[in-house]
Amino acid sequence: MSKYIFITGGVVSALGKGIAAAAIGALLEAQGLRVTIQKLDPYINVDPGTLSPFEHGEVFVTDDGCETDLDLGHYERFTHMRAAVVNNYTTGKIYFNVITKERRGDYLGDTVQVVPHITDEIREAIKSAASDDYDVNIVEIGGTVGDIESLPFLEAIRQFRYHVERENVLYVHLTLVPFIKTAGELKTKPTQHSVNELREIGIQPDILLCRTDRPIPPEMKRKIAIHCNLDQEAVISALDVETVYEVPLSYKTEGLDKFIEKKLSLNLPEPELKTWVQVVDRIKNPKYECTIAIAGKYVNLKDSYKSLEEALIHGGISNNSRVNLIWVDSEEIEAQGVEKYLSEVDGILVPGGFGIRGIEGKIAAVRYAREKKIPYFGICLGMQLAVIEFGRNVCGLSSNSTEFDPKTKDPVIYLMERWYNHRSGKIEERTADSQMGGTMRLGAYPTVLVEGTHAYEAYGSKNISERHRHRYEFNNKYRDVLTSKGLVISGLSPDTELVEIVELRDHPWFLGCQFHPEFKSRPIDPHPLFRAFIGAAVREKRELFL
Ligand code: GLN
Repeated sequence: MSKYIFITGGVVSALGKGIAAAAIGALLEAQGLRVTIQKLDPYINVDPGTLSPFEHGEVFVTDDGCETDLDLGHYERFTHMRAAVVNNYTTGKIYFNVITKERRGDYLGDTVQVVPHITDEIREAIKSAASDDYDVNIVEIGGTVGDIESLPFLEAIRQFRYHVERENVLYVHLTLVPFIKTAGELKTKPTQHSVNELREIGIQPDILLCRTDRPIPPEMKRKIAIHCNLDQEAVISALDVETVYEVPLSYKTEGLDKFIEKKLSLNLPEPELKTWVQVVDRIKNPKYECTIAIAGKYVNLKDSYKSLEEALIHGGISNNSRVNLIWVDSEEIEAQGVEKYLSEVDGILVPGGFGIRGIEGKIAAVRYAREKKIPYFGICLGMQLAVIEFGRNVCGLSSNSTEFDPKTKDPVIYLMERWYNHRSGKIEERTADSQMGGTMRLGAYPTVLVEGTHAYEAYGSKNISERHRHRYEFNNKYRDVLTSKGLVISGLSPDTELVEIVELRDHPWFLGCQFHPEFKSRPIDPHPLFRAFIGAAVREKRELFL
C-alpha cells in the first residue's frame, strides 16, 4: 500500500514547494524508500507546453514526451524517479477528462459537478501515479491556500484520507516565518492565519515547514505548535540555504525524517546522506572557477532556463569548479557587438529557443566561440545556429533556418516533412499548416554516437537516449558540403536520417546537440556533456594561468 504526502503552500507564493517536495523525496530515498512525486497545478491550460516561459518558467520535458511544469525537473534532480505523463495534472487536464467522459455518456445522466465528479477525477489522478513500484507518492499542490483555483484540489486531498487508511496520509504545509527588521523578531502570525485557512476547509496539517532566514527558537516553535494544534517536533525551520541541494540535509538536522517516519508508521534506517554532503561541499568549496556566458532571449527570467542553470552547476560539481553564469540578452549583442559581452568568458552557451528575435546576436556569439576557440555548447536552437553559422562563414552559403526565413536560399535547418519515429515505430508526417508551423518532436529518442568524437568521449558509450522539444531538423541535403569543410556529425538517429549532434574538429570543444541534455542532469550524476563542457572551460582557464 502506497503512502501519500500532500504538500500545500501558504502565506505567499514562491516559497519553494517544488524544492520542498523534492527534498523530502531525497530524504525518504536516503532511507531506502522508493518515491514518486506528482504536481497538481490549478491553472486551466491542459499542459504547460503553451505557456510563455515569461509567465511560467521553463517547460520541463519527460521521457514519454510530456511538456510539464518545471517543478518536475526538481523532482528528477533530487530523486531517482523519472517523471511521466501521470506526474503532472492541471485543472485543465482534469476538466478535459471529465468533460470527455460526460460527452461519452459515462455518467449515465448524472448532473456532473465539481464535487464529486471533479474531486473524484483528481483522486484518480493522484492514484494513477502511485503503484507497487513506489512506497511513497508525494503530491505537491500548486498555488497558495486561499486561491479560488486550488479549492477542488484541496477538497480532493481532504477526502483522500477517508479513502485510504489514516496512517497512510500526511499533510505538509509550507509557510513563511518572516523576520521583521523594525521589530527585530520573527513573526508567526502569517503562519497561524494560513493554517487557519487550511483548517477552515477541513485540512489539519501534520507538519509545518516554516521558511525562515534564521532558526526558529524552541519557544516560538511551541507557540506555533499550540496555535496550530501540532506537536512541537512537527514545526520545522526550513532555513534559507546557500544551495538548494542542502535542503535535504537541513531537513534532516531538524528531525523531519524521524517525524515523517513516526507519522506514517514506518520503521526506517538512518538516512544515508553522504553523497548529498559531498555535493554540497563541492558546490560551496570548489577548487576552480569558470565563467560561462549564456546568450539567450529570456535571460531576465532565469526560471525559463532552470534545468540548464542546474545542469551547469552539476558540470561544475564534477570538475570541482564554481560556475559563474553571465546571462547575455542576444539583442544586446546585436546592438553592442560580441566583444563587450564575451571577451572575458571561459565558455559560451546558446540554449534552446523559439522565434526570430535576437537570432543574429546568437549567431554572432557562435561565430565568436568558433573563431576565438572558446568552448561552445549549443543546445537545440544553439545547435541549429551553429550549423547556420558554419554554413555562412565557413562554407559560403546563405544559410538559415526556415523558421526565421521561410524563403532562404540555403535552408540548412528546415521542417522535415517525414521522419521515422523510433518511439512509436511509425513514420510521422510534419505539416506546416498548424498555428505554430508543425508538430514537435517531443520526449526521449535514441542517438548513436560516432567513435573518436567529443560526444563519444563524453558519454563513453555508443548508444544514448535524450529528450527533445523542437520542430526543425538538420537538412540532409547539406551534409556533404558542411562536413567537407570540417563540420563533424557525431550523433545520428539509428536510421541515420536525423542529425542529433554536430561538432568541430579543430577546436578545443565545440558541440551542438539537437536534444536537451539539461533535462537529464542530476547533482549526484552530472550529465556527460555538461561535465565535458565545463571541463573544457576550466581546462582553458587553467592553461591561461600556467
Ligand atoms: N525553434 C527550434 C525548433 O523548433 C529550436 C527549438 C528549441 O530550441 N527547443 O526546432
